[in-house]
Amino acid sequence: MSWERNVRKVEPYVPGEQPQRKVIKLNTNENPYPPSPLVTDAIQRFDETKLRLYPDPKAELLVDAWADYCRLPSDQVFVGVGSDDVLSIAFLTFFNGKKPVLFPDITYSFYDVWCDVYRIPYKTRALDENFAIVKEDYLTENGGIVIANPNAPTGRQEDLDFIEDIVRSNPDSVVIIDEAYVDFGAESALCLIDKYDNLLVVQTFSKSRAMAGLRIGFAMGNPKLIRYMNDVKFSVNSYTMNMPSIYYGIAAIQDQKYFETITGRIIRTRERMKRELHKLGFSFADSVANFIFVTHEIVPAVDIFEELKKNDIYVRHFNQDRIGDYLRITIGTDEEMDCMIEFLKKYLDGGSL
Ligand SMILES: *Cc1c(COP(=O)(O)O)cnc(C)c1O
Repeated sequence: MSWERNVRKVEPYVPGEQPQRKVIKLNTNENPYPPSPLVTDAIQRFDETKLRLYPDPKAELLVDAWADYCRLPSDQVFVGVGSDDVLSIAFLTFFNGKKPVLFPDITYSFYDVWCDVYRIPYKTRALDENFAIVKEDYLTENGGIVIANPNAPTGRQEDLDFIEDIVRSNPDSVVIIDEAYVDFGAESALCLIDKYDNLLVVQTFSKSRAMAGLRIGFAMGNPKLIRYMNDVKFSVNSYTMNMPSIYYGIAAIQDQKYFETITGRIIRTRERMKRELHKLGFSFADSVANFIFVTHEIVPAVDIFEELKKNDIYVRHFNQDRIGDYLRITIGTDEEMDCMIEFLKKYLDGGSL
C-alpha cells in the first residue's frame, strides 16, 4: 500500500463529548441559555425557497452588521464558520516562515493540531505555576504568536498592557489573540488593531451569544491582514457561511440587551460557584471565562470526573501533562450548578474519601 506513504497523517483534535441523551452538560463551554428571541423570529421568518441559491460568498450583510457593531469599517472584519475556521485560515495565511510559532503549553488544544496539519513549525512556552503566561517567553525570535485571552482551559486573563507589550515587541510577526471568552468579563484587545498592523483579534458567537450550533466567528484587524485572509479563504472554499447563519447572526447582533442579560447571568453564577467550590476544597485560578478550572485538595480529578459522569453530569478532563489533576467545569444555569454542587457535597463527604 505504497499510496499510504503520501498521506497527510495527523493526530486530530479531540472535541468534548456531545452525548445524545439529556445530561447536565458542563463539558464544552456552551451557553446554557437559548439564543436571542430575535434569532427565533429570524428563523421563523426565513424564506426557505432562498436555499436553492448559493449564499453571498462574502457574507456581506453579516460582515457589515458586525463591523457596525464594533465601529469598524467592513474591510477590517473577516467572517468564518466558527472561530475554529477563522483561526485555521489565519494559521494557513500568516504562519509561513521557518521560525517557530509560539503559544503556551497549556492552551486551546487545536493550535498544535493546525500547526501539524499545515506543517507549521511551533514551540510551546510553559505557563508558570499559577498558569500565568510568561511575557519574556514571547519576546524572542518567532514566526508568529497565538494567545487565547482569557486562556483556555485555565480561565485566566492577562491584562491589556501585557498583550500590547507582546504585540509591540513583535512587529515582524502576526500576533493572534483568540478572544473566545472575552465577553464574560475580560478586556478585549480590539482597541489596539488600528495601532498595530500585526494584531489579529478573533471572536466567536459560540459561547457568549449561545450560537455554537450555527458556527459564526470573526477576525478583526488591519485591512491588509483581512485581505490576505480572504485571498486564502477564497482559494479553499468560497461558500463557507451558509445562508441561514448569515441572517440569524445579524439578528443576534441586533439584540444587545439580551446579550448583556445572559452574559451577566453567567458571570453571577460563576462568582457564586467560586465560593461554593472553594468551600468544598477545590482551588482554581481566578477565571474570567464561562468555566472554572479546578483541582481538589484530596480527591483526584479523574475520580470526580468518572463519578460525575456516572450521574449524568459531564465536565471536561484533559489527559495531559501538568493538568491531569484538573477539571474544567462550564458554568451552566443556577439549577444545573446547584445540582452539581449537591452531588459533590454528598460525594466528597461520603465513604469514597
Ligand atoms: C470554543 C473555542 C474556540 C472555537 O469556537 P468556535 O465554536 O469554532 O467559534 C476557539 N478558541 C477557543 C479558545 C475556544 O475555547
